[in-house]
This record gives sequence, C-alpha cells and structure tokens, in this order.
Amino acid sequence: MKNEKRKGKLFVISGCSGVGKGTLLKVFLEKNPQIELSISATTRKPRPGEVDGVNYFFLTKEEFETAVKNNEFLEWAEFNGNFYGTKEAYVEKKLNEGKNVILEIETRGAFQIKEKKPDVVLIFILPPSLDELEHRLRGRNTEDEAAIQNRLHEAYRELECSKKYDYCIVNDDLNQAVKELEEVICS
Ligand code: ADP
Ligand code: 5GP
Repeated sequence: MKNEKRKGKLFVISGCSGVGKGTLLKVFLEKNPQIELSISATTRKPRPGEVDGVNYFFLTKEEFETAVKNNEFLEWAEFNGNFYGTKEAYVEKKLNEGKNVILEIETRGAFQIKEKKPDVVLIFILPPSLDELEHRLRGRNTEDEAAIQNRLHEAYRELECSKKYDYCIVNDDLNQAVKELEEVICS
C-alpha cells in the first residue's frame, strides 16, 4: 500500500467584527497547538502591536492586485475599504503536510471556499446580542467612529449569512464557546 500522508481538514471561522473571534481563537490555539491558523494577506494598515508575517502579511494595494491577477488566492474579498485574501499555496502546503487548518475570514470569502472545496467546515461565531457586539467593538478601542459604524453595518449583513454555515457558536461565556469549538474541530 502506498504510504500516503492523510490530508489535513480545512475549517473556516467567521463572525461579525468585535464578536470575539481573535480572543476565542487565541485560547483555542493555546489548548490545541497542533491546529494551524492560516495567515491572510491584507492591504489594511497594521494596528499597534500587529506584526507582518504573524498577524497578517501586510501588502500594498499594488502587491495585492498582482497576486489577484496571478491567481494566487484561494479566496479574497474587499471588507471595509481594504482587501483581504488567503494564499492558496500557503494553505495547500499545510493541508498536504496533514495539518488541520483554520481560516478566520469574512463571509464572502467563506462561500468562495465552499464552492471550491465542499468539504470545508464553516463555523460562525455569534454575539449574545447586538448591543453586546457594539459594546465589545467600542471597548476594543481600535477603530474610529466611521469604521465602527461600517463594521456594525456589515455585522447585520453577516448575521444573515450565518444561516448558511454548518455550525453556529454563541460567544457569551468564553470558556463554553472554546469547548463548543473543540467539539466541532477536534472530535
Ligand atoms: P474579533 O476578533 O471578532 O473582531 P476580538 O477578539 O478583538 O473580536 O474581541 C473584541 C472585544 O470583545 C475584545 O475587547 C475582547 O476582549 C472582548 N471579548 C471577546 N470575547 C468575549 C466574551 N466571551 N465576553 C466578553 N468580552 C469578550
Ligand atoms: P480585521 O481588519 O478586523 O483584522 O478583519 C476584518 C475582517 O476581515 C474580519 O471579518 C476577518 O475575518 C476578515 N478577514 C481576515 N482575513 C481574511 C481573508 O484572508 N479573506 C477574507 N475573505 N476575509 C478575511
């Protein structure tokens, strides 16, 4: 029998800006270091503390457009005036090494991947309420008022999209949400 390595599984996590995806994933990945979080490319400027090649690959608009022309992205989308995308070669390499990979991306990118790779598991993180979402987004203190308004506007559209996801997890109690994520990804 050919000694072929098992290919890894692909998971997508989406959820409105400020719902707690980053927080949830940080705790989850500390407990499950064997799972890989994909690093996306973006034209957004780094926030304080963000590092190129760790949080994102920060590209200029021209660099991003060249990568789009060269068909380098598994998916990409414009969000809140910036471009975000997943490099196909980067993800395929990890899957071929047998690693399970999580993409933390918005809904349009998620559906592009579902079309190309129907086996992908789509997971949506929901806020306990819209008031709490706004509270968290403002509490994070990383966006100006216009960006907050844009992100809240996007949130309503994204909540509608959650109906097409395979799993929805409410991030109310953080530990409970981590446990539910482990049930989907690790079992
Ligand atoms: P996202 O990555 O979805 O944009 P963040 O992880 O940056 O969201 O979280 C936004 C804010 O909400 C942060 O200030 C974070 O500390 C807070 N937060 C995250 N999860 C919870 C939770 N379960 N309960 C209360 N606050 C939370
Ligand atoms: P932020 O600017 O807060 O880091 O991310 C904004 C949005 O872009 C989030 O909803 C995040 O999930 C999404 N995002 C991050 N990387 C990618 C990507 O590679 N592709 C797509 N389609 N969305 C992404």
